[in-house]
Amino acid sequence: MTKENIGIPVNPPEKECQDDVCVWHGKLPVRGRTFRGIVISSKARNTVVIEWGYTHLVPKYERYERRKSRVVAHNPACMKARDGDEVIIAECRPLSKTKHFVVVAVTKRKIEKAEFRVAEIEAALDAGKAKPDADKVRDTSKKARQETSQEIG
Ligand SMILES: [Zn+2]
Repeated sequence: MTKENIGIPVNPPEKECQDDVCVWHGKLPVRGRTFRGIVISSKARNTVVIEWGYTHLVPKYERYERRKSRVVAHNPACMKARDGDEVIIAECRPLSKTKHFVVVAVTKRKIEKAEFRVAEIEAALDAGKAKPDADKVRDTSKKARQETSQEIG
C-alpha cells in the first residue's frame, strides 16, 4: 500500500512495488537532506547515480566557478528512473558502502530522440502543414534501431 505522507512534499508514484527498501511501499524512513538531480547512470541493479551542478564563490576573483556533485541512490521498482530522468532523492540509512540516498520521485522523464521526432511529425500532420516525410520517418527508425543495438552491445 502506498503511504500518503513521507515527510517530503512530493507526489506519490502511480505504480506499486514489492521492494522492502522503498519509501512509499517498504519500511525505509527518510530524514536529512533532499536533492534534485539528473540520472547519469542506471547500469547497476536498483541503483542510480545522480548529478547536479552548483556555483561556488571564489572570493579572490569575485567570480563563481561551476561545481558538481554526484550521489549514489537506491532506485526502487516503482520509480524505475533511467538515464536522463530528473529525480528527487532523500537521505536515508546507509544501504551499502556508498548508498545512503533513495529516489522518492521522478519529476521529469527523458524524451528519447526517436520519440521526440515522431511526436514532431505527428504534430505537423495534425496541423495540416506538412505531409509525412518518408525519408525522415525512415531515418528516425534507423537511428532508433542503432541506439537500441548500442544499448544491448
Ligand atoms: Zn515502491
